[in-house]
Amino acid sequence: MAKISIDLNSGTVQKESAVIGIDLGTTNSLIATIDSDTHEPYCITKNKDSIVPSTINFNNQEIIVGKEASKKLISDPKNTLYSVKRLMGKSYQEIMNQGNPVNYQIIDNKDKLVQVKINNQFYTPIELSSFILKELKKIGTDQLKQDIQKVVITVPAYFDDSQRQATRDAGKLAGLDVLRIINEPTAASLAYGLGIDKNQSKIVAVYDLGGGTFDISILHIQQGIFEVLSTNGDTYLGGDDFDQAIVNHWKKLHSLSSLSDNDKQLLRITAERAKKELSAILSYMDSIDIHGQNITLTLNQEQLHEILHPIIERTIRICSNALKDADISSSEIQEVVLVGGSTRTPAVKNSVRHLFPDAKINDQINPDEVVALGAAIEADILAGNRTDLLLLDVTPLSLGIETVGGLMDVLIPRNNKIPTQLKKEYTTSVDGQVNLAINVYQGEREMVTDNRKIGEFILKGIPSMPAGIPKIELTFLLNADGILQVSAKELRSGVSQQVTLKPQYGITDQQIKDMLQESLNFAESDMDKRSLAEAITEAEQLIYATQKFIRDNSDLLTPKDVTKLEEIIQGLNQRIQSKDKNAISAQVEKLNNYSKPFAEKVMDQQISKALSGKKIE
Ligand code: ADP
Ligand code: MG
Repeated sequence: MAKISIDLNSGTVQKESAVIGIDLGTTNSLIATIDSDTHEPYCITKNKDSIVPSTINFNNQEIIVGKEASKKLISDPKNTLYSVKRLMGKSYQEIMNQGNPVNYQIIDNKDKLVQVKINNQFYTPIELSSFILKELKKIGTDQLKQDIQKVVITVPAYFDDSQRQATRDAGKLAGLDVLRIINEPTAASLAYGLGIDKNQSKIVAVYDLGGGTFDISILHIQQGIFEVLSTNGDTYLGGDDFDQAIVNHWKKLHSLSSLSDNDKQLLRITAERAKKELSAILSYMDSIDIHGQNITLTLNQEQLHEILHPIIERTIRICSNALKDADISSSEIQEVVLVGGSTRTPAVKNSVRHLFPDAKINDQINPDEVVALGAAIEADILAGNRTDLLLLDVTPLSLGIETVGGLMDVLIPRNNKIPTQLKKEYTTSVDGQVNLAINVYQGEREMVTDNRKIGEFILKGIPSMPAGIPKIELTFLLNADGILQVSAKELRSGVSQQVTLKPQYGITDQQIKDMLQESLNFAESDMDKRSLAEAITEAEQLIYATQKFIRDNSDLLTPKDVTKLEEIIQGLNQRIQSKDKNAISAQVEKLNNYSKPFAEKVMDQQISKALSGKKIE
């Protein structure tokens, strides 16, 4: 039964808004909803077809998206865009570093997100994606005769903060209220009901072979939490390569060379058709006119498997790497979920079955639709229609700030469930400090310089107080999309400041993995560095406190005491220079012992505060 919501302020019944999931794909996009009677998800269709090619054609102010635009890839390639997902959340430099994946014109927009120039207009990938989303929204509104607003959109598991933020912005631009961005493998698992049973703990591999991309994700699903143990892939490996391999086979067989663009296109389309049909039948035959000559093209399943073998093997090697990264053996995988149109090819299924002999292979749901269907289920959960499931994701890297000595102080540890909020209290290290710079980092290393800086801001206007007195409460709020909001408040004065960390460009999943690996490799030397940094910080604070103590308590100390204290301080400074942790600690102890009797006498609260607690520089 559909829910009716009432606006409590006006007392009016609000227009019903459908529960919507969207798979915004590189090649194809889909929109799904939940049947209000059966409560099953289904894809919304246009002309009985659920697939909307992610292709955009611009002609005389008109923007066409989908099947009609795809036709223009041949007749009007100059004004037709595809694969804009590959540009999402990226700078020009990053796209160039990847070897520019598209053959349309992209513009360097300085440090900002790249732009695309088409028809003498400039568009960001966010705007371009919003055109696809608008088309999906229109299909949904037309079919459901219902307003569409609240949606869940899926993204690849390896999408970083900025790519997720860009996807969310595209939704906003299309007039959608994006309830949540979720991972494609999570959505696909949900469509198969994995994770629905809260008492179940499962290790699942999601194998996604689409048109131009391949991803494998190893998930650990328990208590409604979908933890990505590892993800791997090749953003240039997919069904398009199958088509090309078939074309090459025919070209060789029929000695076809120096083909016109049209002939090439015809051959490619025929190859794709043959590939698709051979997923259901054993042999294929067609005749086409090339070079004004009629040739008969044939292919059977066995030949196809042979042709595709090297390509499929590449996916299998990537799967093995993902297993290695997750520290899981293939026999530990309990379920495999097949996603993407190319998994219909029998040779692909066979290879996957061979790699995961003990797993249940989930392939009953249409692999083109499975991600969108799962997104609709998630939307249904978020709409409050299903109380049996709570979906949680986890953060892949620890989040924290820089403290004195360049140390990483973690607020939200890696693999923490999101959304989450954590608070921690800090203080100042210098008397009368009125501004406090807060540097936010992501990563697992002990020293911030080895981690990745994701933002900074300054808490201004702290009333002047002695070091150690201000109480600065830092709050990290990580929302369900993995976007971080940091706020700082000086509790004595109420001065506060907050920032939403701007999307960072281009942290890839590989980088996340590298950072984790590094943190393991460097664990020991990191610990050494950390204890040295801590010893130095402690020593510097002690020197500071002692010098202050000498200034403030000249009446208590004899000139001899002062000289002696200064001598020890000088020795400590030398040891700090030498970066010898043990020597520093020994000298700290010496200074402590010498000053202890005086300190005890005037155990000043400020000094005790100055000597304790973590401080931000
Ligand atoms: P993406 O996730 O990249 O948007 P899809 O999951 O929609 O892509 O997959 C598109 C690919 O699936 C294309 O290469 C297409 O040729 C292939 N495909 C579609 N149907 C079949 C089929 N019956 N047999 C084999 N491949 C298929
Ligand atoms: Mg896909």
